[in-house]
Amino acid sequence: MGAGAGGLAAAVLLARDFDVTVFERAAAPGGKIRQMDVGGGLIDAGPTVFTMRWVFEELFAAAGASFSEAVQLKSLHTIARHFWRDGSSLDLSADRQQSADAIGAFAGSEEAQNFLRFCDQTRHIYETLQNPFMRASKPSLTRLVVQRNPLALIGINPFETMWTALTKRFRDPRLRQLFARYATYCGSSPFAAPATLMLIAHVEQEGVWVAENGMQSLAQAIADVAERNGAVFRYESHIAKILLNDRRISGVALSSGEAVAADVVLFNGDPGALTAGLLGGTVCNAIKKPHDTMLSQSAITFAMRAHSNGDDLSVHNVFFAEDYRSEFDAVFGERRLPQTPTTYVFAPDRLDNTESGSDERLFCLVNAPPTTNNVEFDEKELELCRTRMIDHLKTCGFELQPVGTVASTSPTDFAAMFPGSRGALYGMANHGWRAAFQRPGVRTRLKGLYLAGGGVHPGPGVPMATLSGMAAAAVIKADCALT
Ligand SMILES: Cc1cc2nc3c(=O)[nH]c(=O)nc-3n(C[C@H](O)[C@H](O)[C@H](O)COP(=O)(O)OP(=O)(O)OC[C@H]3O[C@@H](n4cnc5c(N)ncnc54)[C@H](O)[C@@H]3O)c2cc1C
Repeated sequence: MGAGAGGLAAAVLLARDFDVTVFERAAAPGGKIRQMDVGGGLIDAGPTVFTMRWVFEELFAAAGASFSEAVQLKSLHTIARHFWRDGSSLDLSADRQQSADAIGAFAGSEEAQNFLRFCDQTRHIYETLQNPFMRASKPSLTRLVVQRNPLALIGINPFETMWTALTKRFRDPRLRQLFARYATYCGSSPFAAPATLMLIAHVEQEGVWVAENGMQSLAQAIADVAERNGAVFRYESHIAKILLNDRRISGVALSSGEAVAADVVLFNGDPGALTAGLLGGTVCNAIKKPHDTMLSQSAITFAMRAHSNGDDLSVHNVFFAEDYRSEFDAVFGERRLPQTPTTYVFAPDRLDNTESGSDERLFCLVNAPPTTNNVEFDEKELELCRTRMIDHLKTCGFELQPVGTVASTSPTDFAAMFPGSRGALYGMANHGWRAAFQRPGVRTRLKGLYLAGGGVHPGPGVPMATLSGMAAAAVIKADCALT
C-alpha cells in the first residue's frame, strides 16, 4: 500500500509472481514525487535532483523493460550553482577536474587540491557502503564488519560529524557550507550527522539528471511497468486499518469500510503512522517507536512563475545564508523557522536557456522543522518566510518578482499529505553513527507485514527509497518461498 518510490519498485518486482494490489490514498502515483500547477504549467514540487540512475536501470531491467526508453532524462553539466551573500558564486560540474579548477579560481589552488582529495574519500565511502549496506534489507553493523575490512570502515569516518570533517578538509568557510549541505538531503544537520554522509557528494559527482517531463514521469513509468506485469492500482483508496488474524497479517480495511484479504501487506507510508496507531492499535508495536527528537527536518516550498534579474540561474541553485549553525540550531534545537533561510531554487526552464528577466517557472525550498511542537504554519508565517527568502535572494544578487499566485506547502501540509510523518520528510534524522542502524528494516515484528520507503533502511531520496522497495520484494519472495 502506497505508491511512493518504494511501493512502486516493490510492485514492479512482485507483480509477476503474486497478485498485487496497490492502494494509494492520492489520485496518482509518486507520493512525495509530485507536481504543482503554476500559471498553466506544471513544475516539480517534490524531488528535483535525479541521481543514482543505475538503480532505475536495474529495476526496469529486472522487469523486462527499458528505463532509457521509458523516462526522458537530460544529464546536467553544471550540477548546481551556489551563491553567497558576499556576492560570490561557484558552479560544481559533473567533471571533477573542471570543478577543481573552478574551486581553484574561487578559493585558491590549495582548496582545489583539497577538493580532489575529498572526492577520493567520498568515493571510498560510497564504494564501501554500496553493496553491504545500501542494498541490504536491514542495517547491520555485523554484516558491514564481516564484508568489509575494519580499516575500510574507519575510513568512512562514522564517528566524526560531517561539519568537523569538512572543517579539517577545507579552509574556506563557503566550501565547508557547500559540502555540509548534503546532510540536508537526508533531512539532517551537518553539525550532528556523521561524516559518512559526505558520500552524497560522490553520488552527485557520478551524475545529476533532470527528468525532461518532470519527475512525475518517472513515477508514472514505474507504475506502468508494474501494471503491465499484472499489478492493480487503486487510487484515492486510503487504508484505515491493517487486519490481523492470530498475530498474522490477514488484510487491510479501507476508510470506505471495504475489507480486502491479503497474506502480505507492504506498507510504503511513513513508519510513524504505524507507531502512532493510524493503522489500528494491533499493529502499533510492529516496529520500535522513534523519539520525537529523532525526526528529520521538514520544508516550506514555494512554486511560482516569476520574473527575475541579477545573477544568472542554473537549473539547480543554492543561496547560502551567512550563519549556517544558527539555521540548524533553529530547525533542530528550537524547532522553529530560521531567520535567514538557505534557499534552494529549481529553475527547470533554464534547461532551455531562459534569459533572466523573462517569465519562468521556479520552485523554492527552505528548511523547516516538523510539526512536533504543535506549531501551526499558518498563512502569516508562510508570508513572513517568503518575504525573508526573497530578501535573502536579493542580498545574494538575485531579484525575484512572482507573477500571479505563489503556491506554498508547509510542514503542516506535508503532515496532512503523509500521515504519521508530522511533516518530517525523511523519516528519522541521521544524527550520530548509530542512527543509520536504527532505521526500521524491511521486516517488522509481525509476520506478513513489511515496510519500504524513505523512512526505512537505507534511507530517504528517490533512489534509496527505490532500493528499499527492491529489497522488500526480494525479502517477501524469500519468505513466501519458505512458508
Ligand atoms: C520537497 C521535497 C524535495 C525532495 N527532493 C529530493 C530530490 O531532489 N532528490 C531525491 O532523490 N529525493 C528528494 N526528496 C526525497 C524523496 O522524494 C523521498 O525520499 C521519496 O520520494 C520517498 O519515497 P517513499 O517510497 O518513502 O514514498 P512517499 O513518497 O513517502 O509516498 C508514500 C505514499 O504512501 C501513500 N500512503 C500513505 N499512507 C497511506 C494509507 N494509509 N493508505 C494509502 N496510501 C497511503 C501516500 O499517499 C504516498 O503516496 C524530496 C522530498 C521532498 C518532500
